[in-house]
Amino acid sequence: MYDTELKDEFAAMGLPPFRAAQVYSWLHKGVVSFDEMTNISKELRQKLMENYYISSAAIEKKLISDYDGTRKYLFSFNDGETVESVLMKYHHGISSCISTQAGCKMGCTFCATGQGGFNRNLTPSEMLSQLQAEERDSGERISNIVLMGMGEPLDNYDNVVRFLKLVSSDKGMNIGMRHISLSTCGIVPRIYELAELRLQLTLSVSLHAPNDEIRSRTMPINRRYGIDELLKACRYYIDKTNRRISFEYAMIDGVNDSPAHAAELARRLHGMLCHVNLIPVNSVKGTSYRKSKKERMRDFISVLEKARINATVRRTLGSDINASCGQLRRGAKDGQRREEE
Ligand code: SAH
Ligand code: SF4
Repeated sequence: MYDTELKDEFAAMGLPPFRAAQVYSWLHKGVVSFDEMTNISKELRQKLMENYYISSAAIEKKLISDYDGTRKYLFSFNDGETVESVLMKYHHGISSCISTQAGCKMGCTFCATGQGGFNRNLTPSEMLSQLQAEERDSGERISNIVLMGMGEPLDNYDNVVRFLKLVSSDKGMNIGMRHISLSTCGIVPRIYELAELRLQLTLSVSLHAPNDEIRSRTMPINRRYGIDELLKACRYYIDKTNRRISFEYAMIDGVNDSPAHAAELARRLHGMLCHVNLIPVNSVKGTSYRKSKKERMRDFISVLEKARINATVRRTLGSDINASCGQLRRGAKDGQRREEE
């Protein structure tokens, strides 16, 4: 809720605006119960408790990497729905990768979340509560956010935009748009809509294939919006926002990782203000996909570089705890246990 909305709500109960401001500031400190709001009378706290609830993310499971301290959480919400979130340390600060939906409708064949189906959208406060729970648990201040957890952010567009405005507000967590990335599988009409908002966030586009034939096989959304249409929307987005787009490309052994695929990709991205992020695919139970060999990745990158396409191999954090999303939740369902002592 915005502070103005909270003020209206309080006015309707006959309460003055400064009370709303007090409650708003507690909510953004990440309190999980009205009892923690110590500058508010017991009577009012009781009244609030009877009429509202604070959406909070409860820690169901937590894994901490021995290699790099990456923390992976399984959170549950008030209705028992669960999502994953990952907290990572980089040299430039602490980055949190949060979920925007419980599950996902998009059905990408290489993705554990996609294979698990869709349950529901998350509300803006459920997105915020993942960050707040992580700050509380780790004692760290989050400086960067990536919407790369479970779900397709542009399939929950209104809630995600509201979340972005709340989290970047100086009355909220005050995390600047330049410190936020949003990753999408390519819901074209929403990319146009987002472009109009001219937010300074980083748009990541999960491309994962150099042509429609491979992309439609691995990412069903491509049958609706093909690569040409998607890249046209990306060019429009760059024009409108002056921001560089980051293309995600999961390297799958024998599927999309040949030098010819690299050349095809380079042709398509020619002249775009962009960066290609190559990620060795994480193998997911129930699929036969394997990560590309190291030499294959080296050759792929050198083809891109020769064509003057900016490309890097993404560093994998938390590899010992299977930090890529959708797997912890699945593990919990399968009865697999690997918790922190
Ligand atoms: N739905 C959004 C954001 C969440 S997925 C999207 O698809 O962009 C976050 C990223 O992880 C995406 O780039 C997605 O394609 C990638 N991903 C999913 N499964 C993966 C796997 N098994 N290995 C590597 N990357 C994967
Ligand atoms: Fe959904 Fe993204 Fe997974 Fe595709 S990759 S199924 S869009 S979460």
